[in-house]
Amino acid sequence: MNTKKPVKTLLIALLIVFLLVCSVVLGIISISPPTADEASPSFIRMMTNIEKLATGVRFVGTEEVAAARDEIIAEIEAMGLAPIVHRTVFTPEDIHEASAEIHLLHNESYWFPQLKPFDEKWENMWEEFNADIFPEHPLILQGYMNVDNILVTLKSPYNESGGMMFVTHYDSEQTTPGAADSMLSVAAMLEALRLYANHDNLANDIHFLFTSGEELFALGAWAFSEDFQYLTDEIDILLNFEAIGNSGGVINFQTSETSYDMIRFFSKTAPRPIGFHWGDWLYRVAITDSFTDFTVFREYGFQGMNFAILEGNEFYHTPDDNFENLNKNTAWHYLAIMMAMIDYAAENPLHHLQGPSADAIFFPFLPGFMVVMTTTAASILIGLAFATAIAFLICCFLTKIQKSRFIQVLLLLMLIMTAFTLMFASVFSYLFWIPMLLVSISAFTKKWKSLYLCTITLSGAITLLLWTPPVYMIFALSHIIF
Ligand SMILES: [Zn+2]
Repeated sequence: MNTKKPVKTLLIALLIVFLLVCSVVLGIISISPPTADEASPSFIRMMTNIEKLATGVRFVGTEEVAAARDEIIAEIEAMGLAPIVHRTVFTPEDIHEASAEIHLLHNESYWFPQLKPFDEKWENMWEEFNADIFPEHPLILQGYMNVDNILVTLKSPYNESGGMMFVTHYDSEQTTPGAADSMLSVAAMLEALRLYANHDNLANDIHFLFTSGEELFALGAWAFSEDFQYLTDEIDILLNFEAIGNSGGVINFQTSETSYDMIRFFSKTAPRPIGFHWGDWLYRVAITDSFTDFTVFREYGFQGMNFAILEGNEFYHTPDDNFENLNKNTAWHYLAIMMAMIDYAAENPLHHLQGPSADAIFFPFLPGFMVVMTTTAASILIGLAFATAIAFLICCFLTKIQKSRFIQVLLLLMLIMTAFTLMFASVFSYLFWIPMLLVSISAFTKKWKSLYLCTITLSGAITLLLWTPPVYMIFALSHIIF
């Protein structure tokens, strides 16, 4: 009896399983934050600041949010800088108007049915706000509310310089100390600012904007965009930092319209870059009662990108979004991205980032890497993918592969996967079908059997690598979505 063959078959099967498991693990790592450098002085200061500032509830209009404003200003002044406090006075009518505008912006131009109709939710939000908050809120007691943004600019000595703006909000929802949303980003921005506070040879103007009233229909962002509209020409890239969770990797989930050059810049510059071109679509369709300052900035013509974390979203807007529950690697990821961006802006021109550019297709592929291409390139690749699939099918029939039931099932599975792939992220099919192209050619050779097995394994591994991040993300978001 020959025992060698079953052993060999078993080894091959184990190897295939091992490869497939590796793909899933690598897929998860590619959307996880890198390990924190806890000894870094910037990291230590950032964590100390989050612990100090993310206490109590900083809902706009309250004494707590004013105290946080003063602490942030004191921190900036201690660096030898002079921040501007941009104050706007809002009446209840103004707020109602802002809420209606936000509602329209968040929903515009999407044909796909939303999982939760926003109209209804939005009306509830307004009623909830009127009933629960207004009676005790200073806004009602005094009839108006101050919303204070804090702006600090590091000027470049060069006339032709471009500009980068970092944005986050320091107010919190009325139910939470908002450690991740968004005091973490405030503290990370303070560290990026500190690093270049006394630099006298910056290649670009670098602005830091700490908004207030984000949790109340992005009031601060409306006021800023209105009063500083001239900055849309001066700022080549706006980076808005947010959170709807408290762990996981920092994800680039929204961009202004023609984003190819910006995403290329992001994918080359940021440590462990993570981004999905369908992020905005998912955000609007699935998380229909959400908006950020970026919703407003984009409407006013600022070019830029919006970042958030979404794992740990059970903590989002709850008392447990506190310092203790914050994931350290996630905190590090925010800091590392901001540091990389400011390092780049300190030395390099940014004008090429402000249009005209092409639309981009992008997604993570292996930890630390992203596939970024123009929609035109993606369309050509989709065409090739389809052509390859058809060529493969023809080859299968020509070489009588169709006789095996197992292979028929596999083929069917692959076609289904491709169909899904095309729906979700069109260019996945490009990578998925490359091995199939090889097989369609090799089907005419005598060695096709082992090559076919390799191809199936490789295709499976690549598919898992590409599919794990979106599936994992949708799973992480499940109780916000459903
Ligand atoms: Zn937020």
